[in-house]
Formats: sequence, structure tokens, C-alpha cells
Amino acid sequence: MSVSSLIKKLLKIKDIVVRDVLFEGGSDGEQLIIKAKVPVKMERRCPVCGRKAKRYDAGRGRRRWRSLDMGTTKLFIEADAPRVYCKKHGVLTEWVSWARHDARFTYDFENTTAWLTLHSPISVVAECMRIAWNTVGPLVKRVHDDIKKPQADQYDGLACIGIDETSYKKGHKYMTVVVNHDTGKLLWAAKGYGKTVLEEFFKLLSEEQRRGIKHVTADGARWIAECVAEWCPHAERSIDPFHVVQWATDTLDEVRRMVWREVREATKAGNEKRKRGRPRKGEEAPQKKKAGAVKGARYPLSKNPENLTNGQAATIEMIAKSNPRLYRAYLLKEKLRLLFQHSFYGAKGELEGWISWARRCRIPPFVELQKKICRHFDAILSTIKHGLSNARIEAINNKIKLTVRMGYGFRNIDNLIALVMLRCSDVNLMLPGRA
Ligand SMILES: [Zn+2]
Repeated sequence: MSVSSLIKKLLKIKDIVVRDVLFEGGSDGEQLIIKAKVPVKMERRCPVCGRKAKRYDAGRGRRRWRSLDMGTTKLFIEADAPRVYCKKHGVLTEWVSWARHDARFTYDFENTTAWLTLHSPISVVAECMRIAWNTVGPLVKRVHDDIKKPQADQYDGLACIGIDETSYKKGHKYMTVVVNHDTGKLLWAAKGYGKTVLEEFFKLLSEEQRRGIKHVTADGARWIAECVAEWCPHAERSIDPFHVVQWATDTLDEVRRMVWREVREATKAGNEKRKRGRPRKGEEAPQKKKAGAVKGARYPLSKNPENLTNGQAATIEMIAKSNPRLYRAYLLKEKLRLLFQHSFYGAKGELEGWISWARRCRIPPFVELQKKICRHFDAILSTIKHGLSNARIEAINNKIKLTVRMGYGFRNIDNLIALVMLRCSDVNLMLPGRA
């Protein structure tokens, strides 16, 4: 077998003519250079549309594309990169069979890097692939744009969607995401939030596709409601269950902090009265531990009872005995959470029961929450009626949030959105050479 056929077989590139193979000294020791060209019949093509185009000029001469390493040796494909003139796309560097337009890496190299980025931190990817970390973002965007080209039928058959905003950059900036509840996949994401941002999504849909949407869930934000009313007037609006559970969990935490402060102050006042040292006969022991128990109860209180460890269950039990008000707040949160597991028929009565309990519970934060729940009464019932599983909606939401955290090093928001889309939407990015 000749060296050139061996190289072609190893690279698995169809339209390539190998002219020469040589070693050259590089920054990481010797590197392998494959001098190549595009076959004559594939020459002079536009890199965007693939149509035949006229030669424009020699461009910036020869160019190198980094490919996957051969063993531990860096591998480059080197070829002329003349420019062509396409009637539709203007003057561009000629199409090559081994790399995307504007890339300095081959398809295999980019797909491998993008796949790795979906599963590991950017610093690991950069080290493993021997590239600068700031090239990872644009690379991910290129791969995403290539494999997820917009198609007319991509929004066909949408029936139930969820709209939410998610924060990034330590909560200083927001992106709007649209999820398909039937598949549990991310549909669309864009920078910012508000009516004008969300409208961009609805503009992508045809009249018929918009009419097909029967059900929209959101967090109760006014701009979402307004936008949906305008673009999908017939769609029923409901609330994502995890938002309601989150409201309750946050309110419970507020009560816990309130109680903790009170206990701590009371303990302080009590301890100041007594002298230092071992308590005398008949005197109460210092109450340091009491405040500590409430402070450490944050996780046990926010967890679902079925997931509690033995120690955490004991903490809850202790709260039930020592702090009835905090325990009542805990029961209020639990009852609201369990509401979403009810069938529709019992749910209305249960919800009304919860509201009347919360109204007279004498815990100000829960009285406030009760008012909010009243405002969203119909939306909550609609959620239960349609049997939207909270676990599933929360799972996709958490996956989006986790991906945003993974892309922390991405400076450009478009690159971050590409990463989120690659990981959470229905695209299937495969490692090269795998079935
Ligand atoms: Zn073109």
C-alpha cells in the first residue's frame, strides 16, 4: 500500500488527493504535515452553497488545518486556499472536503472537541486537544450551526411548550428558553428576556404551527402572558409546577431564617444573664445548640421527605417538637408540593384547602405566598388538569442551568447558546468514526 492510500484510509476523507507526507519540527516536537488538494472535479466551489464558482485570486496562499493527532504526533493538512467568487455569497475561500468554512480544524477534530465540551470542563478540553481555551467557544458555535441548520418542518407538531428565563454570568444576564414538553428537549434559546425577545421565536413558526400549540407553560411573568396572548391566542396557559414548588421552598427558607434570628437573639439574651462556667444546680444549660439546629435545617427542610437521610429526618422531628411554627411552615410547603401529584378532580378542593390554611397560619411570608397562589389559581389547576410532570420539566430546566454553568468560560453569549442547544436540544452529535 502506498503512503498516500494509507493516509487516505486513516483520515477517512473522501475527496482528497494526498501529494506528500513529511515531518516538520513544531512547538510540541515533530509534527506530521500532509500536503493535499481537492480533486479537480471538486475544485472551485463555494464553501456555503457548494455550487461551482469562478476563481477570484490566490487568497492568502497555503493554509493548514489541524486534524486529530496521529498517535501522539500533531497532524496538519496543508493545501492551497484560493478564493472564489459565488454569485450569491460573494468572495470566499474555496470549499475543502475536510473542514468547515472559516475553520482551521478538520471536521473530525471539531466534532471530537465539541463532543468533549458537552461532557467535560473547557480547561480539560483545551488541555486534551492541545488548543487555546478561547478557541473552544467559536468551535462549538461552528459545529452547532453546521449540524443544526434551520429547517421549515423543525417546529411541526408542537403541542405543548414551556417558556422560561434562565440566568448566566452570576445571575446578571438572562436568556430565554423554549422547551418542548412532549419530548423534554430544548427547542430554542436567545439572549435577553422580554416580549421582543420571545416574539423572535413565534416569528420562526408558520401560522399553522402556531395554531397547533394548545398549551403553554411559564413562570407567571407578565411579558410571557402578553406575548402568548398575542401570538397563540387559543393556547391554554399554565404554570410550571417547579416554579410553584420553588416559591414555597423560598418562603420556607425565609421563615427558617426568621426563626433562626429570633432563637439566636433569645439565646444570647438568656446566656448573658448567667455567669461563665459550668451551670449551677437548677440552672439551664447554655442554648447554643438550639439556634444551630435551625440553621443546619436548611437542606433537610428543602428536601422531599422520601429522600431524607436518617440524620436529616431526625432534624425534622426535632423541629416538629421544638419549633411548631417552623414545622407548620414545612407542612405548608409539603402540602403545596404534593398538590401536583393529585388528580384533577381532587385538586381544586385541595388547593382551596391549602389557601384557607395558609391565610390563617399566622406566618407572614406564607400569608403573602397565599396571595400569589390565589392570583395564579387557574394556571395551577390547568397544570394539574394536563398532568404535566414536574420531575420531567425540572429535569430539562436543571440540565439547561448546568450547561450554562459548564460554559462559564465562554465570553460570547452566542457560543454559550450554541453549547446549550447542542447539549439540551434534539441534535445528535456523534464522535467521528462511531456508528
Ligand atoms: Zn455560494
